[in-house]
Amino acid sequence: MSADLQTENSPENESDSPKPKKPPRELPQILHAKQGPLTRELLLEPGNFGLGLMPAKNKPDLVTSSVCGYCSTGCSLNIHIKDQEAVALTPTTNYPVNMGMACPKGWESLTVLKSDDRATTPLLRNESGKLQPIDWHTAATTFTTRMKAIQEKYGKESIAFLGTGQIPTEEMAFLGALTKFGMGMLHGDGNTRQCMATAVVAYKQAFGFDAPPYTYDDFEQSDVIVLVGSNLCIAHPIMWERVMRNPNSPEIIVVDPRMTETAMSATQHAAIEPKSDMALLYGIARILIEEDWVDQDYIKQHTNDFAEFSDHVQDYDLDRVSADTGLPKEQIEQIAKTIADGKRVSFWWTMGVNQSHQGVRTAQAIINLALMTGNMGKPGTGANSITGQCNAMGSRLFSNTTNLLGGYDFANAEDRKKVAEILEIDESLIPEKLGLPYHKIMEGILSKKIRGLWVICTNPAHSWINQGQARDILSRLDFLVVQDMYHTTETAKMADLVLPAAGWGEKEGTFINSERRFSVLKKVSPAPGQALADFSIFRLIADYWGCGNLFKKWTSPEAVFQMMKQLSKDQPCDFSGIEDYQAIDQSGGIQWPYPAESPNTEQQRRLFEDGKYYHADQRAKFLFEDPTDMPEKPSEKYPMLLLTGRGSASQWHTQTRTSKSAVLRKLYPKRPYIEINPMDARRLSIQPGDKVVVRSQRGRVRVKAFLTQAVKPGQVFMSMHYEATNQLTHASFDPYSKQPSYKACAVRVDAGV
Ligand code: SF4
Repeated sequence: MSADLQTENSPENESDSPKPKKPPRELPQILHAKQGPLTRELLLEPGNFGLGLMPAKNKPDLVTSSVCGYCSTGCSLNIHIKDQEAVALTPTTNYPVNMGMACPKGWESLTVLKSDDRATTPLLRNESGKLQPIDWHTAATTFTTRMKAIQEKYGKESIAFLGTGQIPTEEMAFLGALTKFGMGMLHGDGNTRQCMATAVVAYKQAFGFDAPPYTYDDFEQSDVIVLVGSNLCIAHPIMWERVMRNPNSPEIIVVDPRMTETAMSATQHAAIEPKSDMALLYGIARILIEEDWVDQDYIKQHTNDFAEFSDHVQDYDLDRVSADTGLPKEQIEQIAKTIADGKRVSFWWTMGVNQSHQGVRTAQAIINLALMTGNMGKPGTGANSITGQCNAMGSRLFSNTTNLLGGYDFANAEDRKKVAEILEIDESLIPEKLGLPYHKIMEGILSKKIRGLWVICTNPAHSWINQGQARDILSRLDFLVVQDMYHTTETAKMADLVLPAAGWGEKEGTFINSERRFSVLKKVSPAPGQALADFSIFRLIADYWGCGNLFKKWTSPEAVFQMMKQLSKDQPCDFSGIEDYQAIDQSGGIQWPYPAESPNTEQQRRLFEDGKYYHADQRAKFLFEDPTDMPEKPSEKYPMLLLTGRGSASQWHTQTRTSKSAVLRKLYPKRPYIEINPMDARRLSIQPGDKVVVRSQRGRVRVKAFLTQAVKPGQVFMSMHYEATNQLTHASFDPYSKQPSYKACAVRVDAGV
């Protein structure tokens, strides 16, 4: 079905999508922007965006669609344009992802562009310590002069960058190529280290490539849905809506220490002791093996190392698993039986697993269950990692950080040659090894090996674990450059130089969503003041740095997309068959793989239908390890365990955007709060709404008490969106993915001041 070229009230919509409560008013046909860079001049030029429509009072002149810029769901939003300005939006009804739905963040996407604290001009810190407006020439000259001076004095590796999963894939590729091939940087990472690194490593090791196998249709096809460490209701509300559309009355098993909104709607809630999920998953595997509830054929034909795994889980008998998890034995048996009885079982995980000290092995314990029960490659099945940010998937393939552009290996000479040929650059410009991961970059700053840092569209002074230490580290830099939409982020306030960037809706490119679907972000609004698309900033820096020649083919996002297609050729993510942005738009998004030779045009596609994985022998691997103690357990001095997570569907990460919408602000508590069990509250003489003091070894914050049985006695919960939370968290990391373990640390809670 061609999704975007239909009118909102076309017959196709009526048959394929849930009916809106009130039929939409008649809208003009959705038209597409001219292809090519959507510059401000083009946007404002009459005749573009397929104009020529009759302006009518209270009707948009045209409606075009664009992918949402918050979470990885990748909802399509119809942008209503009047007098060449985006004036409203509505969720696209005939898009295979969201089917006419959007969460509050998506609905408010345009509002947050109009904020007073948008960065509208470059800012440079003057001698008296104030950020002063400057022009772009001065900004680019300062950037280049100071970064080069640091490199000359302390070596090439003394500057680094921190990128993001929030910008289009083409911009990520440009940033990664510019820094590593043009500026000679070795070290660069992104905030995707904070959310998806664990899933990446888990998949690479188990499947041979970072490949989430599912399509959202699987939410509707399963008869058993297992959610581990995922509060889908509020973290991915539209995915949860897809679960609600499932016609099979599925069993929904939620594994989570808290009674989350998702757990409340589950048919089975395994309220495990925090960080005991590996033991539970191994215990379930042991029961499945013991009862012969496994798919021996699938295991034999498509996997390796099952016998070793089978031996490993023998240690996880019911007594042990019940003691470790705090679950009754009958409940553990019931979960195993439900999985065994399921015809189409899908396993899903997100940050509760990824942000753990043993996240990779926990994710693989989930993958093992899907493999051993043959729940792979069929509708309603899969070992499915749900991504966080709107373009974390783009970052995983094209940020040029944890792998060479397109999923290649920096250390592999053939891979470097292929990439160099496609980009038409000298092979020697490509580093032969990986740069440092995020936490090592921070350590590098502390040890003075790294002295210059370029932060793009992320806010480490708020979001990095153990915030007090993170801010101390950032303050030690010789030169901190922050490129952002807003000049008021905690990190921008620390910067020596602020580069004003266009936001979502003010530039173009592609995002790849959680189910590997490409969709197009369009420019529907001019960026304020002198703010530029990140793409244009990278172009400018390349020219001032003196390496602009390397990027002569990088003329527009779509030109980069064409190179990315070539880079993807013969990789598992091959999307060489996608012609251009218009083809993506007209198809309702396109999932990879989509090779030129055999493009599969079905709208919902899953991987591994043939049971062939990406390792050389085409088999998946069982991977396992014994659980270790959590890095910081409660103690006499800090007797409670702090859990963290998303607070509401109206908040996004450090709230640099969502706090700018009055509508969204009404939907979440203004001030930070802590969820505490009433029994603990009584013991500590805490009344509902009291101010309490929460201390950890790293910090002390005052927050409001919210009494709830959603957390068990001895545990408390704080939402990640408030600055206070990371003042408490403990910096520990998964040994394989180097992802921070945000989810558990020891705290003390006291009433009053
Ligand atoms: Fe945007 Fe995610 Fe909300 Fe969809 S669910 S509207 S992609 S934030």
